[in-house]
Amino acid sequence: RISEHILSSLNQVGIETHLIKRINMREQLVKLVEIIPIEFVVRNIATGSLTKRLGIEDGTVLDYPLIEYCLKNDELGDPLVSREHILAFKWMNVFELDWINEEIRRINDFLLGMFRGVGIKLVDFKLEFGRLEINGKKEILLADEISPDTCRLWDVVSEKKLDKDRFRKDLGNIIQAYQEVARRL
Ligand code: UDP
Repeated sequence: RISEHILSSLNQVGIETHLIKRINMREQLVKLVEIIPIEFVVRNIATGSLTKRLGIEDGTVLDYPLIEYCLKNDELGDPLVSREHILAFKWMNVFELDWINEEIRRINDFLLGMFRGVGIKLVDFKLEFGRLEINGKKEILLADEISPDTCRLWDVVSEKKLDKDRFRKDLGNIIQAYQEVARRL
């Protein structure tokens, strides 16, 4: 329900997504896209792997959103790759990459405001995009889900974690936290 709400809100401001409609509590009808093999991680506040990798202080607010690229390959542990790797190995062409970067900034701006309006800091999140040919014209759509499983969400006042870190860090009350996000949205 959270992902459906977020994707349809994005759609209302002109971001094209793969979502057609929710069928029931567990299934959604989506457009079949050729998924681009990159996970786009967007960060507004430094935490998680970024702080561990670079020794940045946890909770540092970034002056500008940081976009990181990870190759979708579970066997290799989704390694971080650069723009140059993406172009060299043709995982995307330069037009697709630049277009997606612009789209990500719009998505981040929208989601930051949406969550802030319900007292939640959007710390970081992961996006995926896919290609689809419609009437001979290639389009790129936002795909996958956007939910507390793919975002870090902290309460603005208490900084309480309302996302998958409750599971990752064994903090408990994960269902209550997700329901809290759903209720506020
Ligand atoms: N993320 C995700 N799927 C992944 C990897 C990361 O949804 O396979 C999300 C994660 O929930 C967080 C953000 O991307 O919101 C950044 O995660 P990070 O790189 O800090 O990884 P972690 O600390 O989880 O290893």
